[in-house]
Amino acid sequence: HPHVSRPMPSPAPAAAPDWAAVRTDFPLLTREVNGKPLIYLDSANTGQKPASVIEAVDDFYRRHNANVSRAVHVLGTEATDAYEGARRKLAAFLNVRADELVLCSGTTFALNLVAYSWALPQLKAGDAIVLTRMEHHANIVPWQIVAQRTGATIKVAELTDSGELDLDALYALLTPEVRVLAMTHVSNVLGTVNPVREICREARKRGIVTVIDGSQAAPHRTLDVASIGCDFYAITGHKMAGPTGTGVLWARRDLLASMPPFLGGGEMIKEVRFDGTVYNDAPHRFEAGTPNIAGFVGLGAAVDYLGGLGMDHVEAREKELLEHATEALSQVEGLRIFGAAPEKAAVVSFLVEGAHAHDLATLLDLEGVAIRSGQHCAHPLMQKLGVAATCRASFAFYNTHEEVDAFVAALRKVRMLLA
Ligand code: PLP
Repeated sequence: HPHVSRPMPSPAPAAAPDWAAVRTDFPLLTREVNGKPLIYLDSANTGQKPASVIEAVDDFYRRHNANVSRAVHVLGTEATDAYEGARRKLAAFLNVRADELVLCSGTTFALNLVAYSWALPQLKAGDAIVLTRMEHHANIVPWQIVAQRTGATIKVAELTDSGELDLDALYALLTPEVRVLAMTHVSNVLGTVNPVREICREARKRGIVTVIDGSQAAPHRTLDVASIGCDFYAITGHKMAGPTGTGVLWARRDLLASMPPFLGGGEMIKEVRFDGTVYNDAPHRFEAGTPNIAGFVGLGAAVDYLGGLGMDHVEAREKELLEHATEALSQVEGLRIFGAAPEKAAVVSFLVEGAHAHDLATLLDLEGVAIRSGQHCAHPLMQKLGVAATCRASFAFYNTHEEVDAFVAALRKVRMLLA
């Protein structure tokens, strides 16, 4: 029965949380850097963790630590229950079945798993892979490896001036030789939210397998992966209040069942014999070796935490912060923002005339403001934008309007120093 392993998410809270109280859940946000109160605007890079997540990891090591699926003793059972419990929480968060989720180290691993286990055996010379101009390197390089090994070619869907996918151009690329379309749900540089449901519908009509990189979507909005209509969906735990080194690949069950293992070892087998080893069923077939048990305990706590806030409330809060930041930044003379999609996550990439991105970020750091500067693991996008680097301020629900104002004031100040 499909509901057996598809736990229902608890109903979202009706009222928006008290955001000032929410902020106090994050111990790190109280610290100072360079003698100034920290203003952390790099959540698209990695998110900060609430105390409940830190405590869940701590509690696991203090009271329950053991390996999973191996020992019959109490701790072994507790550890296995905690790990499998996290899988069920993640399934509810994504609205999919738990046995369709492969727990892994992050989006990078998840996308490589798709590339190596599904694509490498499936693709051949003459096939094509479609990517978009806004992909992170994690959703480019594995496909280049597949293309090199199979003789498949890569085609790239380009963007409009506002940083959105040019849908007509994308659909024109979806010709009969295309076997797979791999694209991000939300751009980590431009913030653009792609209409993945509509795009997956078009791909499906043409028999094209869809792979969605949900790294920047999962932390910021309610996800209903089942309704997107994709074949693979990857997320990374550390951007959604969870520990580093955790991630999840959701895969359509028939595809997962057909895939050979990527890594061999313990946990992924039923029986090992020198005359023929029998692999375990999915998803355990793809989880060779001792997993990041404590990390997934933490990610389970993160999902509980986000669910307690309500992802619709998180999205609304971040939209307000984005609007505030966009408005305030657009009044800074000589400042150019990259990405103006109407559907946009709380990420603002920008440059200030006459100032190098790294210089701005370094001077802002002296003011206590943490932003990212550079190419954001998206070289092909930078090449198209025609810039060597951008600054990127990214916001999360725990940021405040006062921080937005303090950031823009600091930016005005350091800009004067560089002018
Ligand atoms: N894809 C996107 C869009 C990202 O923003 C990131 C994070 O940097 C990744 C993939 C890679 O995630 P990870 O390094 O956690 O595997």
